[in-house]
Amino acid sequence: MKITFLGTSHGVQAPGRYCQSMLVDTENGGYIIDAGAPVMDCLLRMGYSLGKLKAVFITHMHSDHIEGIFGLLSRPCGYFKEMDFDVYFPETEGMDSVQRFLRAEGNDGCGRVRMHRMEQGEVYRDRWTAVSAYPTGHLKNRPAYGYLLEAEGKKLYISGDLDRNIDYPRFLEEEAVDAFVVECAHFPAENLAARLQHCKARRVIVIHVWPEGQYDVLRALAGMLPCKMEFPDDGDCLTI
Ligand SMILES: [Zn+2]
Ligand SMILES: [Zn+2]
Repeated sequence: MKITFLGTSHGVQAPGRYCQSMLVDTENGGYIIDAGAPVMDCLLRMGYSLGKLKAVFITHMHSDHIEGIFGLLSRPCGYFKEMDFDVYFPETEGMDSVQRFLRAEGNDGCGRVRMHRMEQGEVYRDRWTAVSAYPTGHLKNRPAYGYLLEAEGKKLYISGDLDRNIDYPRFLEEEAVDAFVVECAHFPAENLAARLQHCKARRVIVIHVWPEGQYDVLRALAGMLPCKMEFPDDGDCLTI
């Protein structure tokens, strides 16, 4: 399992960083989590085999996690005809607004891009990969999720955006997942480091960091944590 970080910025683009998106690539298919970066452009530039993409999962409807979805969903019908994938939205209103946009540009769909509203629990399963969603309180009155991906005997958890109390799921303190991608923009970095003292993940990968000074705090505290901590930039690819 390989994770390529298409965008690692927090809520706002930064020089050298797109907003949040990552490609999880396996032998049998590719999966995108969040689409804050211009995903289609990123896939083309990295020479990714577009027909491999199986599904896209959105954590929540903040623009820094979704604004790159339009290019990804509008092009397969007219241009990249090898693409055939499913997209999972956390709420109906968000999914409807994307569908309305596609209709407004004259795109009535081609059956190879299928949109779904997901709920917590198992969202997706194919022969090789399972994806489950865990709610967070990041948005007060709207749904937001993190995702657990299981493939090739590995487990990867992606936090999505969290609430001020760093509400990632408790099972990360009971089970040693292979990698845990976590944000650090909605709480002090010291608080994240304190909670990670109890985390059993083998690797903790921090993205979506704001303000920038939180990187320095985390790097200073990383040596005291029980898990390895990493800070990828856009374009970095980690093998899990
Ligand atoms: Zn965000
Ligand atoms: Zn958010």
